Amino acid sequence: MKDSHYLKNEIYGLISSNPDIFEFLQNGSLDGLWYWDLENPENEWLNARFWELLGYDPEEKKHLAKEWQDLIDPEDLKIATDNFNKHCADPKHPYDQIVRYKHKNGNTIWVRCRGVAIRDEQGKPIRMLGAHNDLTQLKELEENLRQMANTDALTGLANRRSFDNHFEWALKNRQRNSEPLSIAIIDIDHFKNINDAYGHQVGDSALIAVASAIKKACRGNDYPARWGGEEFIVLLHGADADQSLLAAERIREHIAKVNVVDKNISASVGVSTLLPSTADESKPLLDQLISAADKALYTAKTSGRNRVVHNIHISDD
Ligand code: GH3
Ligand code: MG
Ligand code: MG
Repeated sequence: MKDSHYLKNEIYGLISSNPDIFEFLQNGSLDGLWYWDLENPENEWLNARFWELLGYDPEEKKHLAKEWQDLIDPEDLKIATDNFNKHCADPKHPYDQIVRYKHKNGNTIWVRCRGVAIRDEQGKPIRMLGAHNDLTQLKELEENLRQMANTDALTGLANRRSFDNHFEWALKNRQRNSEPLSIAIIDIDHFKNINDAYGHQVGDSALIAVASAIKKACRGNDYPARWGGEEFIVLLHGADADQSLLAAERIREHIAKVNVVDKNISASVGVSTLLPSTADESKPLLDQLISAADKALYTAKTSGRNRVVHNIHISDD
């Protein structure tokens, strides 16, 4: 059998005869080790590494279960307790979960916590041995990647993908089906001229400045995003036709104040409002709103730019 390699047997022997080996294993391979007396459940030995990970001096901590239970996220404690009870009842149910602890400095420490119950001859759990692995860096990396996937790198606004997700979320979370919802598509006027006259880098800083103007003009529930190129989009929660016009006008005014290399920038805005009576259920609502707002934007462009046009009807074609 693979598992009875002579070197493995040798380690087993070393662990029980030489305390240095055990110390090396618990400090070198794990971010925490604990051993719990289930017959006297207030007693739990927690190794020094466990406390160091959470920013505490192990000397000031007692070997009591209460000590970690005070620092683990309450929701995660419920999950861990539930798994603990299931594992005690059935050894095949793993005690294995990722939980959050509060570091002494307030930060969240993500820990994978695994354990195994030690049972008496009747199978009753009398001890629990557990091991921790610190996953904080991995979690932070995961969060950064998620952020990157949802953010436009140049302007820092949400990107198109994120807008799509947010729109779906907004549809589902409307209080009533009749609650209004509008979008504004913002397209910078003659942007190509800026690039041509001053170069792409100046163009980029103009995009950053416009994004920041849009953000400033937005109110609490509005959701601005970079739609692509020199086009932006804003979801206006709860805004009917009149309110969306006011919001779009405010955005347009903020953009008109942007100044890049002594040139004023302007943008045209097309707005559309979701009206359940005019929506065609067979087509994605966002597509209908976009196509209506695009038509309004086209009118804004052809009628002189630097203006807002509203297209209240969601068209069928
Ligand atoms: P209109 O008023 O009709 O909208 O004219 P416009 O020049 O803004 O429109 P057009 O679609 O012809 O040009 C858009 C330009 O935006 C062309 C493209 O090179 C530029 N652009 C798109 N994305 C970026 C970007 O990330 N950085 C820079 N600097 N330019 C961009
Ligand atoms: Mg454009
Ligand atoms: Mg343009």
